[in-house]
Amino acid sequence: MTIRYSCGRVRDRCYNAFPCLSDPARRSSLALKAALLMLHLVYAGVLFLFDTDLIEKTKREPWYTALYLLLFVATLVQYFVTSGSSPGYVLDAMRYVNDTNTIFGKISTPSKQPASSKNGSTVITVEGSQLGRNLLGSNATSWTKLVLDMYPPGTSTRSLTCTYCNVEQPPRAKHCHDCDRCVLQFDHHCVWLGTCVGLGNHSRFWWYICEETALCLWTGFLYITYLRVNISRAWWKDAIIILLLVILSISLIFLLLLLLFHSYLILTNQTTYELVRRRRIPYLRGIPERVYPFSKGLCRNLYNFFCVRSNIYELERLPNAQELEEMSRPYTCLDFLRCRCC
Ligand SMILES: [Zn+2]
Ligand SMILES: [Zn+2]
Repeated sequence: MTIRYSCGRVRDRCYNAFPCLSDPARRSSLALKAALLMLHLVYAGVLFLFDTDLIEKTKREPWYTALYLLLFVATLVQYFVTSGSSPGYVLDAMRYVNDTNTIFGKISTPSKQPASSKNGSTVITVEGSQLGRNLLGSNATSWTKLVLDMYPPGTSTRSLTCTYCNVEQPPRAKHCHDCDRCVLQFDHHCVWLGTCVGLGNHSRFWWYICEETALCLWTGFLYITYLRVNISRAWWKDAIIILLLVILSISLIFLLLLLLFHSYLILTNQTTYELVRRRRIPYLRGIPERVYPFSKGLCRNLYNFFCVRSNIYELERLPNAQELEEMSRPYTCLDFLRCRCC
């Protein structure tokens, strides 16, 4: 009884010192982050603790170990930055549009369309500090009009309104039940990151997988080198290294597949959600399988993903029937040269 009371008091003190721990969802997310950090430290720690040859090599060629440690730190930084970044919430975009109203003014006049809306998308520049300001006094019609313009004529607002957030969803947005918010260009909810992957952080997510894959490959190479040079010196050391190497190999296979999959999504401008639930998503129904309705060509997709999307929201409208017909026609040699193939 006394032990339980003491435990309760300690727990209450922890919650007072760290309010985030009182929320079970955030607590499990923090536990996962701590586990991931520990896993990285264990892999690097065991290597530098056991491998005397690596220590000797570090003395001779310090740049080699410095590069490895640089990748190690960069991967962890990228993980925490991605985890803390916003995936792009529909509510934030709506508040921004309603606050400024300038975008609405531009896109509602067809003759004055901004250059960035030529490819069928509306670009909303959003600085991080500007998001979420001025919650009151928003003009819902600006956002409603903007969203309706992205759908075929005759689409009702009721079918676009999220019943949880009470906000109209632009194409490619979806409500995430873990985050309890609508996310722009929803890809998936990442348990390891503790956040959604969407329009705002998909490129950061890709870079994180890329760095993690490179780190796993390099660490695996160092572990194999250790086993080749130091085998049969101390069996328990070899046993630990082999066990860690097996776990690393499984993680590496998973990471490589994930990297390839997301690279394919980037090249074709799709999301995981759109690919997996294609037949169930209303705006993708009836579109032929090999047609990627949001793709603007391989080069443009790559440029938009890596160079544009880090600090802006690009809301993409649905292609009209004529554009879909154009996308459905067979490719010619000229199309391949123009990168239309994706
Ligand atoms: Zn929602
Ligand atoms: Zn989420």
